Amino acid sequence: MLNIVIFGAPGSGKGTQSDNLIKTYNLFHISTGDVLRDNIKRGTELGATAKAYIDKGQLIPDDLMIGILADVLDSNKEAAAQGVIFDGFPRTIAQAEALETMLQERGTSVSTVIGLEVPEEELIERIILRGKQTGRTDDNMETVKNRLAVYHNQTSPLQAFYKEKGLYQAIKGTGKIEEIFDDIRRAVDAVK
Ligand code: ATP
Ligand code: MG
Repeated sequence: MLNIVIFGAPGSGKGTQSDNLIKTYNLFHISTGDVLRDNIKRGTELGATAKAYIDKGQLIPDDLMIGILADVLDSNKEAAAQGVIFDGFPRTIAQAEALETMLQERGTSVSTVIGLEVPEEELIERIILRGKQTGRTDDNMETVKNRLAVYHNQTSPLQAFYKEKGLYQAIKGTGKIEEIFDDIRRAVDAVK
């Protein structure tokens, strides 16, 4: 199995590059942000809980998020047979440790972590533009500031966590989408 964690700050292009990865490799895409937004749209109980956190730019609690991920993995075993793109998960050390255990229990492991690196000014520009274009309610200046702070405090420590395991590959996340993807493809092919 080829299990790719696509990692980066909000607005770093995880979703965009995941779409490219799906087309090139036969992998199952799990975007935790998309799973949560789908629940909000369908008016589920989970959606109501998630919305309160998302609109404040906070993370959904680890226990809840880890449970959701395990459910998605278990209900898509066939689609995920070749491997998975994890987009937006893990976002904390606790989530990364849980992912390790979950994959181990399923006889597999993280193959590589692709870290999209983008300067903060550009992240903010991209997110504000996306908010205007899509109406995503958490893509506004106030929430973005908080999401970036949460990223620095809770998520960026994962870089060191995965570097220590020899799994982290930094990719320059600015420039043309296709050129960024060329770099990603090289990084993935190196571990395949
Ligand atoms: P990108 O722009 O790179 O796609 P993003 O940070 O803008 O990334 P999502 O990954 O879609 O957006 O996440 C949106 C929100 O959903 C987060 O701000 C957070 O509140 C919640 N969320 C998503 N994944 C997790 C997770 N693994 N743990 C906790 N909360 C999460
Ligand atoms: Mg996304």
